[in-house]
Amino acid sequence: MTKYIFVTGGVSSSLGKGIIAASLAKLLQARGFKVAIQKFDPYINVDPGTLNPYEHGECYVTDDGAETDLDLGHYERFLNTPTSQANNVTTGKIYQTVINHEREGVFLGKTVQVIPHITNEIKRRMQALSLTDDYEIIITEIGGTVGDIESLPFIESIRQLKWELGNNNAIVIHLTLIPYLKSAKELKTKPTQHSVKDLLEIGIQPDILVCRTEMSLNMELRRKLALFCNVTVNSVIEARDVSTIYDVPMEMLREQLDRTVLDKLNLVQTDEPDLEKWKAFLNRLKNPKKEVRIGLVGKYVELQDAYKSIHESFIHAGVSNDCKVIVESIHSEFLTEETLKEKLGELDGVLVAPGFGGRGVEGKIDAIRFIRENKIPFFGICFGMQCAAIEFARNVLHLKDAHSTEVNQQTPHPVIDIMSDQKDITQKGGTMRLGAYACKLKSDSIAQKAYHTNDIMERHRHRYEFNNLYFEQFEKAGMIATGINPDKNLVEIIELLDHPYFIGVQFHPELKSTVENPHPLFVSFIKAACDYHEKQLNNKFSTTSVF
Ligand code: GLN
Repeated sequence: MTKYIFVTGGVSSSLGKGIIAASLAKLLQARGFKVAIQKFDPYINVDPGTLNPYEHGECYVTDDGAETDLDLGHYERFLNTPTSQANNVTTGKIYQTVINHEREGVFLGKTVQVIPHITNEIKRRMQALSLTDDYEIIITEIGGTVGDIESLPFIESIRQLKWELGNNNAIVIHLTLIPYLKSAKELKTKPTQHSVKDLLEIGIQPDILVCRTEMSLNMELRRKLALFCNVTVNSVIEARDVSTIYDVPMEMLREQLDRTVLDKLNLVQTDEPDLEKWKAFLNRLKNPKKEVRIGLVGKYVELQDAYKSIHESFIHAGVSNDCKVIVESIHSEFLTEETLKEKLGELDGVLVAPGFGGRGVEGKIDAIRFIRENKIPFFGICFGMQCAAIEFARNVLHLKDAHSTEVNQQTPHPVIDIMSDQKDITQKGGTMRLGAYACKLKSDSIAQKAYHTNDIMERHRHRYEFNNLYFEQFEKAGMIATGINPDKNLVEIIELLDHPYFIGVQFHPELKSTVENPHPLFVSFIKAACDYHEKQLNNKFSTTSVF
């Protein structure tokens, strides 16, 4: 029988529920359990695909083409197992299903209500993964903060499930904040007490408290929290701020969160979790032998979460190269001819980010020209790859005003154009080319050397593509297609021949990088940046040498 763990949040948002859920899952997986994690979000959008990155950070795409919450990225990166459509459910999705059923007459004339119809659909979805696979444990993270009006049906569904499944089969972990008041020089437990009271009012007694804190919780505080929140003392888990999210599983292990969970779920397990690979990763992460500086050119750079998977992929690839990757965020909207050298000249590599629409596009194109001419390692992702094609068309092929029809519908040279099967689509949600597609690589290309294979599958999220009418012109001038979708003949990867490392990909490699499997393209890009860095140092040394 599948066991269920629900993770709720209290006091404040952004406490890192996703990381705590992923860390617990990692520990349970390392003990040999088959674990899945899913996220239930109380907002009304059917999925986060239509949400602006400023609102919701990056949109994470699964192999089966779901546009999902960025926490699913953490789940995949920690567990090294893919997620799917079923792993992210929103209020919008729940209502859509219930309303469709109502129209189909499924409810046989009954009044359709939040309780039981919405809660039944939530409960069905909370257990759905166990029908598709033989998971022993399913962890469900509930978005938002307890006390929010919109999360009530989710909390009520957990209450019912706990009752239906029995206490030893479903538990609630409440992640909360213990703020430190500088003036009083004290950690305060009152907000947590109130938040637990909120849960109790809805009928849920949390089984475990995970307490985010800047300072260590002493025994006295743990006892106080335990007494007033009605949990055992060893169910008060300290989650102190750490320097990297990859430390959190080790912290949770130290606090014995996994043991406490297994006890409560009546799962007997004596062996310690096997975390050798994880520890080796952490060890290399904390002891880099070298350092590179990479520019990340995008228009949402002020918001870390907008490029979450790219940042994490850099960390994984850095570890593979024993190298610390310092990412400098560069706002494409404010890049000008005059600032290019100052902003990009000292970097060891530049990644031009995915994106939509015209804002900041000229800055991206100018940046790529500088990178191409100065032979700095370049990695373009999705819109970044499209910008590389536009730059090449304008400045090498001299196709004046070449552009993507996404930005300029009147361009005389639409080197990037809307895909034919996208032309008649008017609905915005879930209609892009989404999910995993095959790609064939050209032998001896940068890509093929990175992947060590000729056949790959990568995840996509776009409407526009390289316009094959320009294919020959590009190839003759030295920008070649090294990855092609075999079914539709779409250009998926471009590379420059006359450049040490210049690659643009139409897909999103950042969505498949994990701690255990750093993405080959990120690994090879960081390697190229390391080589470039060394070469620059040698050049400096030889020009300043007095011998
Ligand atoms: N806007 C571009 C397209 O739709 C690129 C999308 C992206 O970067 N994800 O094709």
